Amino acid sequence: MREKVVVFSGAGISAESGLPTFRGADGLWRNHSVYDVATPEAWARDPQLVLDFYNERRQLLRRVQPNAAHRALAALEQYHEVVIVTQNVDDLHERAGSRGVIHLHGELMKARSSERETLVYPLGERDIQLGDLCELGSQLRPHVVWFGESVHNTDQACNHIAQADKLLVVGTSLSVYPAAGFITLAPDKTERYLIAPEVDSLPDGFVWLKGTAAEQIPPLLQSWMN
Ligand code: NAD
Repeated sequence: MREKVVVFSGAGISAESGLPTFRGADGLWRNHSVYDVATPEAWARDPQLVLDFYNERRQLLRRVQPNAAHRALAALEQYHEVVIVTQNVDDLHERAGSRGVIHLHGELMKARSSERETLVYPLGERDIQLGDLCELGSQLRPHVVWFGESVHNTDQACNHIAQADKLLVVGTSLSVYPAAGFITLAPDKTERYLIAPEVDSLPDGFVWLKGTAAEQIPPLLQSWMN
């Protein structure tokens, strides 16, 4: 039977591709204060530092590839309706072939106008430099949600989670709100799985599959492909 599978992913799903997570031992924020690079105040104070940080992240992203977890999720679309709600700003789900990807925290491979949020531009091979302007003449900035800014696509994400037959949470510490709270919207009937190498506390109703995304996702999804 074709079911609705909703995946809620975070930085951990891309760790095995070589992208650092948010708070891990080698996490991004160990080397950078979030207030220096990921807030509107940082952008106002030192836009060059902010652009350098994201340009570096983007250059790394271009060098890495989707891993077995991203690829298995893309393959599942042949069997079920799959919606991926991701906190990640990378494009590895899309590059693996997933079509229904909802980004809550923006997309690193895009730029947007600093004046009008809806003016968004794919970057392709380019980075963003000071002096790169949108069509209204204002500086381009990374199309990412900074601390203190509104999460994108909230209604759409919540509606999908509220209709999920299966909810698979993977690679997230569930510590960035409001996004982390969305998983509580799944109805009682939803089968819930959490994939992580370790957990502090298991959210209600979840089965914990201990291990990494690339270890645990392919066999789990294989069992759903009948
Ligand atoms: P987080 O770093 O807070 O948590 C990562 C979680 O993944 C941890 O619980 C860790 O135990 C787990 N993990 C580590 N390696 C794993 C693996 N191989 N397989 C499965 N799980 C693994 O990340 P988060 O919860 O996504 O934090 C949210 C914020 O991080 C978001 O705002 C997001 O935009 C940002 N972020 C995104 C990226 C990316 O796009 N790849 C990278 C870093 C940070």
